[in-house]
Amino acid sequence: MEKKDIKSMPLKELEQELTARGEKAFRAAQLYQWMHVKLAKGFDEMTNLPKTFREECAGQYAYTSLETVRLQESGIDGTKKFLFRLGDGQLVESVWMRYRHGNSVCISSQVGCRMGCRFCASTLDGLERNLLPSEMLDQIYSIQRFTGERVSNVVVMGMGEPLDNYENLLVFLRMLTDENGLHISQRNVTVSTCGIVPRMRQLAEEGLQITLALSLHAVTDEKRRRLMPVANRYSIAELMEACAYYFERTGRRITFEYSLAAGVNDTDEDLEGLTALAGPLRCHVNLIPVNPVKELNFVQSRKDRIHAFQNKLEKNKINGTIRREMGRDIDGACGQLRRRERAGTLQDCGGN
Ligand code: SAH
Repeated sequence: MEKKDIKSMPLKELEQELTARGEKAFRAAQLYQWMHVKLAKGFDEMTNLPKTFREECAGQYAYTSLETVRLQESGIDGTKKFLFRLGDGQLVESVWMRYRHGNSVCISSQVGCRMGCRFCASTLDGLERNLLPSEMLDQIYSIQRFTGERVSNVVVMGMGEPLDNYENLLVFLRMLTDENGLHISQRNVTVSTCGIVPRMRQLAEEGLQITLALSLHAVTDEKRRRLMPVANRYSIAELMEACAYYFERTGRRITFEYSLAAGVNDTDEDLEGLTALAGPLRCHVNLIPVNPVKELNFVQSRKDRIHAFQNKLEKNKINGTIRREMGRDIDGACGQLRRRERAGTLQDCGGN
């Protein structure tokens, strides 16, 4: 029988699990604290627990932990990009960024992705598998342990489509923001989706205060379908209704992500359309200069175009920011590091 993944169990579940095995309830709280506050790498670190209990746990449960395969550090802004190996040998990427308001970690939610967006490196080889809640937590835990600095913000914007791994994502979000764990404020957590409408609506009902970011990237259905296959399933009108619903239910404003590619989605009509969609929803718009991926033919919009977008949004009282290209000297676009590692074309950079 496969061992249960103990680090994916919320505290209540862990209590039930242990009391059913005849353990005292306080053991669950101790164990939970070791896993989710002290960020132990294994049962053997939990020195205030009886050895027999630790051995029993090790025999009974799986304890996930990540191995750092690569670490790339930006010489420009200190951004760190991690390539982690999971228990089954699969690879995922995570990024640590230091901002004025705190440290932010960008995590992956799947190994690979099956959404097929045309500009994205993470989806080139399709989906390998979903990440467990523990494997999403582990990315943050490993990085916090490594840097020795508290992580205050988490964005689920790495590899994978989080709403395509919905159940695990929800467990992860609850555990991440739980007062018995790292207790990261829900308002400091952002989940980014390519726009799976029924799941966006479901997320609105979960009683969470997280930010939902929608990867819009085009303002007509026709153009969006060319960039993002998911647009064949859901129209922009349906997406906007789902966004309005999310705002209505949670009071949280939606963020639009809009990656600008020269000659693709940066014309005046695109800008008009973007303004018209963002205005009524009072969205925040995140303008991302497209990150060129070797296998894909996209070129960044010119700086003056990007600024024209920001200025027009501002004139219309829409909050628009240009994403700083954090770590642009270190394999910026998500999924590229993993691809290069698998292809064996990475030079050893001494990370670990
Ligand atoms: N699946 C989620 C998270 C993906 S990555 C989603 O679709 O939102 C986070 C953002 O980066 C998304 O907006 C995605 O569309 C965008 N992105 C992916 N590849 C990119 C690239 N090469 N250049 C710029 N943005 C990119």
